[in-house]
Amino acid sequence: MIENLMDKIVSLCKRRGFIFQGSEIYGGLANTWDYGPYGVELKNNLKRAWWKACVYERNDVFGMDAAILMHPRVWEASGHVENFFDLKSDCKNCKRRFKTEDLKDKSCCPECGGGLTESRPFNLMFKTHQGPVEDDANIIHIRPETAQGMFVNFSNILDSKHPRLPFGLAQIGKSFRNEITPGNFTFRTREFEQMEIEYFVKPPDAEKALQEWIQSRFDWYLSMGMKKENLRKRQHGKDELAHYAHACMDIEYNFPFGWSELEGIANRSDYDLKQHAQYSGKDLQYFDDATKERFYPYIIEPSGGVDRAALAFLIDAYHEEEVKGQTRVVLKLNKGLAPAKVAVLPLLRNRPEIVELAKKIAQDLKKSIITVYDDTGSIGKLYRRQDEVGTLYCVTIDVQTLEDKQVTVRERDSMLQERISIDKLKEFLTNKLS
Ligand code: ATP
Repeated sequence: MIENLMDKIVSLCKRRGFIFQGSEIYGGLANTWDYGPYGVELKNNLKRAWWKACVYERNDVFGMDAAILMHPRVWEASGHVENFFDLKSDCKNCKRRFKTEDLKDKSCCPECGGGLTESRPFNLMFKTHQGPVEDDANIIHIRPETAQGMFVNFSNILDSKHPRLPFGLAQIGKSFRNEITPGNFTFRTREFEQMEIEYFVKPPDAEKALQEWIQSRFDWYLSMGMKKENLRKRQHGKDELAHYAHACMDIEYNFPFGWSELEGIANRSDYDLKQHAQYSGKDLQYFDDATKERFYPYIIEPSGGVDRAALAFLIDAYHEEEVKGQTRVVLKLNKGLAPAKVAVLPLLRNRPEIVELAKKIAQDLKKSIITVYDDTGSIGKLYRRQDEVGTLYCVTIDVQTLEDKQVTVRERDSMLQERISIDKLKEFLTNKLS
């Protein structure tokens, strides 16, 4: 039943153009996924909502977009070269590779029963060469987190924006980790997108800021329509903490494969700025002009995954109900996340005057509302499609519309229908969607 739900989500994503297997026509590249027309809208809506809540609605957080490729010393300073690894064990018989912490029996392959090699550290950073010469002097890492791009710009922000503590930087971007065991659809992949905030505070204020960010990020998921019973907080044990962290709280989602991390909120202490100051030789202290003190701020980091959040919202919104002896599948995404807000559908696609009017109405709505037009099936089929992608309102143009200049507006969740005159339609929908 549980696996069934995951299968249903994967199948809906493919059928309706949310997410496709990467490089599918070549047999697929394992654990890579391409976002289709509705998937990219969902992800963009998610990122926009995050940016609005974390940057635009605050006075103390500024946006950034740093380069993916960074100076090799960055990853030495950050501790990733030395510490960013998982332990792996290989099967001597079937050659499969496992993350040691996932193995119940550390000596025996769970797939074929063969013997396992001793567990060895495996660095998760991808490496490549910069420039045309492929030698060791040109090795460069592809970032495994967006965070470092914000730390290395700390003094640029101080010099250009002159902020007072506390203040934060926010960034959304791709990160890459050579995960040993990717899987569970888009939950764990080697290429993924993160939305991260680095919030700089006076050291004594760190604990309070940590608690505030935990609550604020938890509430954000609820405000975007996620069901409360599917969300929880989980404190990291001392043995789980990353090498830089003093404390960390995960926000977990009840995925069909179990409770798993959606976002982590960590107190990174003054580790990062101190390390970069030491490795770069630059002074990265903050000068407090009120107390005339110089010190390294602590950093509170809410770090979430765009792909994981998109997957959690898809699962959370998936809904089945029986209607007239048939199963109706509806994605009950909230207004902000739904990829299309309105669909315009002609009832009879072989009547040119109906099709023409429907296209004209859609074109007019498109100027201010994300609207799709579809005339490639019977009305039953068209409604079904729109329900499955979570479109909030369907507008149907029928024979009567030609006479009374009214259309039928159907609301997604209740399926209630109303006749609205064409000249009031945009205002009606705008009010509903605002
Ligand atoms: P996990 O324990 O699941 O490996 P993590 O604790 O290493 O995750 P962080 O380093 O805290 O993850 O990264 C912040 C966020 O980035 C995670 O909460 C998750 O949403 C996302 N993320 C991390 N690794 C991946 C991945 N391989 N695929 C998709 N998203 C990821």
